[in-house]
Amino acid sequence: LHFHKSYKRPQPKPDPSSLVFGKHFSDHMLVINWSEAEGWDRPQIKPFQNLSLHPASSALHYSIELFEGMKAFRGADNHIRLFRPMLNMERMHRSATRSSLPSFDKSELLQCIKKLVELDQDWVPFSQSASLYIRPTFIGTEPSLGVSRPSKAMIFVIVGPVGPYFATGSFNPVSLLADPAFVRAWKGGVGAYKMGGNYGPTIAVQSEAVKRGCQQVLWLYGPEEEITEVGTMNLFIYWTKPNGEKELLTPPLEDGLILPGVTRQSLLDLARSWGEFTVTERTLGMKEMLSALESGRVLEVFGAGTACVVCPVGSLLYKGQTFQIPIEKNGTKLAERFYKELTDIQVKTPTRVTLQHV
Ligand code: PMP
Repeated sequence: LHFHKSYKRPQPKPDPSSLVFGKHFSDHMLVINWSEAEGWDRPQIKPFQNLSLHPASSALHYSIELFEGMKAFRGADNHIRLFRPMLNMERMHRSATRSSLPSFDKSELLQCIKKLVELDQDWVPFSQSASLYIRPTFIGTEPSLGVSRPSKAMIFVIVGPVGPYFATGSFNPVSLLADPAFVRAWKGGVGAYKMGGNYGPTIAVQSEAVKRGCQQVLWLYGPEEEITEVGTMNLFIYWTKPNGEKELLTPPLEDGLILPGVTRQSLLDLARSWGEFTVTERTLGMKEMLSALESGRVLEVFGAGTACVVCPVGSLLYKGQTFQIPIEKNGTKLAERFYKELTDIQVKTPTRVTLQHV
């Protein structure tokens, strides 16, 4: 790998306790240009700066854009670790193929990202609850208005410190709006890919949830009102099945409706390695969910994603009625256990190397 590098004088770092997600950026960025004629250009690490784009760039008109979200953690040993970053590279590659953006070498891109993190390592917070958020982005830069495969494209990566999701140090359960009138993704669509086009249209729905007194959206799909995801997290339900067995359940990937989360995969891997309860990936409709809630079989419901690791759900607002998840009675034991196990892997010297690719 040969880089073009130019450096910027280090800027002052924000206080980790006052970090607002996505508002702070490090000193440098990674930029890699591609063209049909020349292929991939030499990767550049340069001072963080504005992009200069042709106004007809296809990312701006037809949303030929995708991104990733991952974190670097400073461990107790002061070493910096990425958490399962190859899973992000693989997801990014799948998103690129579906977006008609060119193929790229996943390992080489990861190496470039590591170089950027290494250069800006002082931006990885010296705190075990804050981290450095990494935002790889891939855009079509075709300078023409034809709706066609771009002959020019750019990968860029920006990074910045982010604070703990639960600033108080304890879980705050979220309330969800479950309204089948809003649909995030559909079969044959692109819900399984991390394209910007999947996110912009959710903001108005999120505002509607807030207007109705909820914090986030529970995305439902189809006539069975299948439970798919919550906000930008995958959803998990821990309950007792009618036959008395304990089960951890999450919606499946096969339908292409949900994003294959790195956290989702990690929780499934952990739970299967414990072997203490059944772990199932299958569809679950609102009817089955409500009947389990009414018969007192639901133990915990939580979202899972890079931002929070796990986030307990406290209630569902469905057709004007609020259904409580029995947190008061059951607590959030499983969510807490997942949180502790996963954050331990992220910040401590790895013992479970299967989850760690440094
Ligand atoms: N679902 C959606 C729609 C998301 O945007 C995210 C965040 N990337 C997730 C789930 C969780 O994925 P991950 O665990 O990889 O952050």
